Amino acid sequence: MTDTHQRAADLDRMLHPDEARATVLANVRPLEPERVPIAEAGDRFLANPLIADVSLPPFPAATMDGFAVIHDDPAVERRVLGSGFAGDNPDVTVVPGTAAKIMTGAPVPNGADAVVQVENTTTADGIMTIQQPEVRYGNNIREVGADLRKGDLLIEAGMLLGPAEVGLLASLGHAEVLVGRRPRVAVISTGNELVAPDQIPGPGQIRDSNRFSLALAARRAGAEVVINRHIRDEEAELRAGIQDALEAADVVLTSGGVSMGDLDLVKMLLGELAVVHFQKLFMKPGKPLNFATVGDKLLFGLPGNPVSCLVGFQMFVRPALQVLQSAPPDPHPTVPVAIEHEIAPSDRIEYQRAVVTTGTDGRLSAYNTGPQMSARLMSFIGSNAFLVVQPRDKPYVAGDILDAILLAPPAVGLREKS
Ligand code: AMP
Ligand code: MG
Repeated sequence: MTDTHQRAADLDRMLHPDEARATVLANVRPLEPERVPIAEAGDRFLANPLIADVSLPPFPAATMDGFAVIHDDPAVERRVLGSGFAGDNPDVTVVPGTAAKIMTGAPVPNGADAVVQVENTTTADGIMTIQQPEVRYGNNIREVGADLRKGDLLIEAGMLLGPAEVGLLASLGHAEVLVGRRPRVAVISTGNELVAPDQIPGPGQIRDSNRFSLALAARRAGAEVVINRHIRDEEAELRAGIQDALEAADVVLTSGGVSMGDLDLVKMLLGELAVVHFQKLFMKPGKPLNFATVGDKLLFGLPGNPVSCLVGFQMFVRPALQVLQSAPPDPHPTVPVAIEHEIAPSDRIEYQRAVVTTGTDGRLSAYNTGPQMSARLMSFIGSNAFLVVQPRDKPYVAGDILDAILLAPPAVGLREKS
């Protein structure tokens, strides 16, 4: 068989979604990371691991306002030596019979080995008396390295930076942070039947919805949408549009034009302009999803049906966008759930839009969102999961355990169980 024939035969094979995802990930390399100011590092992925280059706190520090003392000093009354505020450099030395006033966060002066909180003391005429039965060594002192130690791995590469991570980076002096670059994404919807949302559809026309869904999904996945347009099913326009998108973007997302109709030009053009890796998936919805590459650029020819388009995005595009940003592919977590009603399987792996809830016993159960036709965007509304319905020859019944891919946290006891 020639190479061309081999290729054609492979493309005709229906890939298992897991194999398809592995194929996508095998073709994705993280983009060159970029340096951003710490104030802009939030919600980005850390490109290099953060290793502590100092210990924190760098000095023994008081955790209470009070007095620095020697814990086993037998003196009952102690002469107060002055005070240390946070930020002060202590210039006193505590010796038996003395105490140094100290504020939270301030360095513990030489000689002292405990801090007594002010509430447990009385002071008169410069003499402090402790009003607690016992002072222990190290009381109310954060030792050097109590928070973190020099050399510790603090944040692994690929972690999403939230408020605590950003704070930690700042506390270690990172005014700038190396993070994964946001992938530039081009979104192109195709189809002669599509009109813009502000237009009244004529006979046979519908409003374009995928362009808006995909752009938001891409942005939520951390991408920057650089092109977002509609192109008619016209070969030259579409070719030029895809070429422009390849120039401007790291990832090109098209919707429509990949099934078997006469005007399924996207599929044809991907074959012409790119290396096509797969065109058929053993899944429902989303069977005709196309994946192709040109060098490091990724092209996803998503099916036109709005549900197929978004399922395809979640299953294949989102993991790729993660990896481009130096993150792990982070597939949505898969959890076992008990189904609440009968479900008829199809002849392919079906991703049914569903609502997963946590019962009072902590167990997860799920019901689907009604008719699962791939044009019915309503099947997504209110859902938080894809129920993975494996093909088989008999229905699943209430109580059967299926996998669910959680797109959002489970809802809590949303409705009465029937
Ligand atoms: P296609 O994959 O181009 O054959 O489209 C499959 C179905 O999805 C057809 O019914 C189209 O009208 C519909 N469709 C295609 N693109 C869009 C879009 N951008 N928004 C909404 N529906 C679409
Ligand atoms: Mg079309």
